Amino acid sequence: MNRNEPISRVASAALFDKSKTFFPGGVNSPVRAFKSVGGTPLFIQKGEGAYLWDEDGNKFIDFCCSWGPLIHGHNDPDVFEAIIDTLKNGASFGAPTKHENNLAEFILQRIPFIDKIRFVSSGTEAVMSAIRLARGYTGKSKIIKFDGCYHGHVDSLMVKAGSGLATFGTSSSAGVPEQLANETIVLPLNDSETLKNCISTYKEELACIIIEPIPANNGLILQDKSFLHEVREICSNHGILLIFDEVISGFRVAFGGAAELYNIKPDIVTYGKIIGGGLPVGAYGAKKEIMSFVSPDGPVYQAGTLSGNPVAMAAGLAQLKKCSETDFYTSQSEKTNSFINDINAFCLENNLAVELVAIGSIFWFSFNGKKRVRQASEIDADMSHFNKLHSFLLNNGVYLGPSGYEVGFVSSVHDEYLLKEASNIIKKGLVYCMN
Ligand SMILES: *Cc1c(COP(=O)(O)O)cnc(C)c1O
Repeated sequence: MNRNEPISRVASAALFDKSKTFFPGGVNSPVRAFKSVGGTPLFIQKGEGAYLWDEDGNKFIDFCCSWGPLIHGHNDPDVFEAIIDTLKNGASFGAPTKHENNLAEFILQRIPFIDKIRFVSSGTEAVMSAIRLARGYTGKSKIIKFDGCYHGHVDSLMVKAGSGLATFGTSSSAGVPEQLANETIVLPLNDSETLKNCISTYKEELACIIIEPIPANNGLILQDKSFLHEVREICSNHGILLIFDEVISGFRVAFGGAAELYNIKPDIVTYGKIIGGGLPVGAYGAKKEIMSFVSPDGPVYQAGTLSGNPVAMAAGLAQLKKCSETDFYTSQSEKTNSFINDINAFCLENNLAVELVAIGSIFWFSFNGKKRVRQASEIDADMSHFNKLHSFLLNNGVYLGPSGYEVGFVSSVHDEYLLKEASNIIKKGLVYCMN
């Protein structure tokens, strides 16, 4: 293996031609259209373990893992069995089932800073509900988010920084009213000066600060632990709720996510991705007092026809049980570290200005020389190296998410042998794309 001739995309191209007549851009979520890397998106036929096959029969080592949910790879036997067993009794009832209790109990026993949880059907829904809860609980309306954090396509979070520091945001999507965007303040990550200044002006009006404690949707922008602690302290001092959006980091870097890893307790936490075992699930949780504001106990309305879906709950439980095994997270991060260290050593030897950054089993190709990226603005906007790498890797059997801003995921079935195979291909790809 090591070829530059393109793989066949005949079947994918035919499906894409057709899908373009059905869906905007031919897809049901924008990044899937391959716009940033170019070329026809691959239509996936099946996945098994750490591998994917597209409709042309090309086989790949998969580092996208459905954007994170598949921490045990495709078709994990335990998750599969839980899905089938539960499905035999029916797909959905719109009434309570024991499966919701089972998953909630399993999570709440292991995550001490939340007493109650509410299941929803996506990460976006979890975040949207958490923001509403924070506003309902505090009776305030302004929120702070950070540039470079993604929180799903929630209206009030589809906001980018306006001009100048610590100013109100402007909407980053058509269809989001400026009045709503104005309620969101966008700050740079890892910058406590700017944060403090903003707080001194707006502390009376702020409902919450929302942050991805491990920002992993716009590169992997690891934060100084001291900054995260500072955010916690500021929130506590001013009666502002701290929301950790752990949709990607929850159950990924530790069972209790970044909160556990950094030992910081948010007031509200949001989960998604891994929590559903590959099926659509999100959740938000908090202490009893805050959760008592959620309907039907309290005045903050939030509901869902398919919320707590029994099949999805069973899939999530089967998946999280495996995550809770002793040393699971240690072995995941050790494996990922040796994978990236091997590639980084190679890049150093060969003077390639690229570095793999990782935390837990999340990794990212940083084409920023040796500069440690702590803020979104520090990311080199030129993604041409990544785009070249991406197509080389596809042609050589390695599948990454189709954008240089996206992270990769190592699952529990990416064993050392497979990671070695992948790293050999990646090294060749990096030489190729940096020249
Ligand atoms: C993926 C993600 C979301 C959105 O979740 P969806 O299930 O795609 O709606 C929100 N926040 C973070 C941190 C995410 O990684």
